[in-house]
Amino acid sequence: MSRVVIVGGGGTGDATAFALRKRGFDGEIVILSADHDRPYDRPYLSKEFLRGEVDVPKVFLHDEADYANERIELRLEQRVTGGSLRDRRLTMSGSDAVGFDVLVLGLGGTPRRLPQMPSAENVRTLRSLHDSHELRAALRRSSRLLLIGAGFIGAEVAASARQLGKDVLIVEALPVPLQRALGGDVGAAYAQIHRSHGVDLRTGTSVQEWHTNAGQVVAVTLSDGTREEVDLVLVAIGIDPNLELPQALGLPIAGGGVQVNQALGAAQDVYVGGDIAYHDHPVLARSVRVEHWEVAKGQGRGIAASIAGGDTPYTKLPYFWSDQYDISLEYRGHASGDDRAVWRGDRDALKFSVFYLRDSVVEAVLSLNDAKTNEAGGKLIEGRRRVSAAALEDPAIEISELLGAAAS
Ligand SMILES: Cc1cc2nc3c(=O)[nH]c(=O)nc-3n(C[C@H](O)[C@H](O)[C@H](O)COP(=O)(O)OP(=O)(O)OC[C@H]3O[C@@H](n4cnc5c(N)ncnc54)[C@H](O)[C@@H]3O)c2cc1C
Repeated sequence: MSRVVIVGGGGTGDATAFALRKRGFDGEIVILSADHDRPYDRPYLSKEFLRGEVDVPKVFLHDEADYANERIELRLEQRVTGGSLRDRRLTMSGSDAVGFDVLVLGLGGTPRRLPQMPSAENVRTLRSLHDSHELRAALRRSSRLLLIGAGFIGAEVAASARQLGKDVLIVEALPVPLQRALGGDVGAAYAQIHRSHGVDLRTGTSVQEWHTNAGQVVAVTLSDGTREEVDLVLVAIGIDPNLELPQALGLPIAGGGVQVNQALGAAQDVYVGGDIAYHDHPVLARSVRVEHWEVAKGQGRGIAASIAGGDTPYTKLPYFWSDQYDISLEYRGHASGDDRAVWRGDRDALKFSVFYLRDSVVEAVLSLNDAKTNEAGGKLIEGRRRVSAAALEDPAIEISELLGAAAS
């Protein structure tokens, strides 16, 4: 009987463990997680949990009893620091080494910090349930929140804080919010959305100076010369994927993550998924690394398929969503900056989709409040056929009609 050891009790690790049992795997399953809490639904942390609409235990992915029932040994507060793939052993801070037959890594990332960021009690980052819990309590006591960074976490926390009636100031170095993930045009739509909800959004701006009093940040001076009083700060400038352990184990590092093959394998009997996986995607025909929830959970299930049934290419397209105010974003596939953007729908009504084409093949589709088009767009991506931009733009033509059609 073999023993699967999963390092990381997040989206990837939890999905791998339960999917293994679903597939009839009868060996030992051990999850080693540095977290204090059992696996939870991380996307809630910037939205429903932060706003107090969802609480523990609903935020957990499974009841405690489910782990026992499925014979999944969950060891919390266990940080793996190194090990040897040849000897099939992992070393941990403060406890005995753990042996494995098959190793799975789903380690996620660590929020980046600003080099000059003061270590004040009211300057925070957000990744864990504990972080969100603390931020939620601090937000209740605060009246003006400064968000540094308008990526997904910053933008979602801004929306949640406005829904809670707080004043929100966002300082973003780039010209529009979400620029890296969604590009300039969609980012401009999000700038409009946040401003129309009362967010004080300063783009092309950074913090020049921090003003503290009694261990708290009380104000900042911005690069535009203004001084702003604040009583809570969230630094949301992205994550660094947790690559120390993969590096220590000698796994291949590429594309900001661990290079994995189509079946999510990084080495013999070693599988990697989620935020740290740079996956050779069989449908997109290139390697992609995606920091999103459904990707982590899907790859966890994909890893289980490979372990239980022999290496199996993981073909699901990258997919993510983001909810801000009443705007629902969905995204399928993976675009590059130089792909051609083709718009469909009503930009002013904030109900539209954008298709990203390379050589007339749809690589990705982004939709605002347009779930039906997004789903159909996913089928176009999987089809890998050339389609005409004019047809995509034309609201009289159903996307489903294009599925079998080649570009003229
Ligand atoms: C606040 C927030 C909101 C989000 N909202 C969305 C959303 O709306 N939509 C979306 O698509 N995505 C969202 N995401 C992103 C999504 O949650 C992540 O992409 C996903 O959790 C990644 O899964 P993972 O398994 O790679 O890592 P994680 O879920 O981060 O899990 C990593 C686990 O590894 C553990 N770990 C790390 N190093 C070690 C070690 N050395 N030893 C032992 N354990 C270790 C950690 O403690 C953690 O338990 C959000 C993320 C955050 C933080």
